[in-house]
Amino acid sequence: MNVFAEESIAARVRGILSNVRAAAEKSGRDPSRVRLVAATKTVSVERIREGVNAGLSLLGENRVQEALPKIEALAQTQVRWHFIGQLQRRKVRSIIGLFDLIHSIDSLELAHEIDRRAGEAGLVQDVLLEVNVGGESTKAGFRPDDLIRLVATMAPLTHLHIKGLMAIPPPTVDAESARPYFIQLRELAQAVAAETIPGVMMDELSMGMSNDYAIAVEEGATLVRVGSAIFGVRHV
Ligand SMILES: *Cc1c(COP(=O)(O)O)cnc(C)c1O
Repeated sequence: MNVFAEESIAARVRGILSNVRAAAEKSGRDPSRVRLVAATKTVSVERIREGVNAGLSLLGENRVQEALPKIEALAQTQVRWHFIGQLQRRKVRSIIGLFDLIHSIDSLELAHEIDRRAGEAGLVQDVLLEVNVGGESTKAGFRPDDLIRLVATMAPLTHLHIKGLMAIPPPTVDAESARPYFIQLRELAQAVAAETIPGVMMDELSMGMSNDYAIAVEEGATLVRVGSAIFGVRHV
């Protein structure tokens, strides 16, 4: 190690937790209502373990085949897992029961498959609905103007529990430019909540990543998904 060695994972985790707290307080929110999900795609078990020792308690993975061995390797820790990536229907069966929350329901077909497989396993899967806030044709997620109708369609699925919304806004040149998207997602959640659809809760807003998590917290995020600001730039 030379004297220019990068800041440790532990120091970065502490810094992010402190920024989250400051952003919550700045906007008059209770900091305990915001949880940090460490996005661990491409990160080795060894480095994840370093993060867990530094206080990370919630990990987010994007790909089933990458997640399964990591979950097994860290089974002796207290860490909990969320699924944050695009989920293929044929993979649903292999992940039921492993993830406390799936952030990324982006179609009715996926919702039905999760409901079916969770039902077979005798459990209820907590999920968030992903919204395509930027209206990007290349991005997954429900269209904002379809959302309320579709939530009503999914609400009767008894093995699927809708807990809130998630978004990945289009890339912006600076964090502040992402703010309107975060406001849009919060207002959408408020609009859904106002419908008081039985069995549907809008308690969680998953938004904000390494570059803009503080802005997202100011606008109501309850889950921020942070990867590179903890583990460094991904090289793959
Ligand atoms: C990788 C990833 C993140 C974290 O991105 P960073 O910019 O590295 O913080 C958050 N959410 C999702 C869905 C991701 O795939």
